[in-house]
Amino acid sequence: MESKVCTRCKTEKDADKDFYMCQGKHRSECKACTIRKNAVYQKRNKPWRDRLIDEQEKRAYMTKYYNANKEKFVEYRRKFKEKNPNYFREYQQKKRNPQSKG
Ligand SMILES: [Zn+2]
Repeated sequence: MESKVCTRCKTEKDADKDFYMCQGKHRSECKACTIRKNAVYQKRNKPWRDRLIDEQEKRAYMTKYYNANKEKFVEYRRKFKEKNPNYFREYQQKKRNPQSKG
């Protein structure tokens, strides 16, 4: 058999059995690592992030989104403060006394 060392878990495995093929070549990561990586990625992934793979792209998108809806955000914050006048005070107190959390 042809063996191959996975670049991720550094384990020597059967190249044909334990590695996926990609364009006629074995991938550098074994099946177990590929599956685990995909599971973590899918868990973290939210629908609105689907097209935003890059961290920088994501931040640029959020900044653009925020700027386009600035008034809404400010208004939302203002209304929230009106409805919950003690929220921010309580939050500050909780931050100061971390033991007293419910
Ligand atoms: Zn591996």
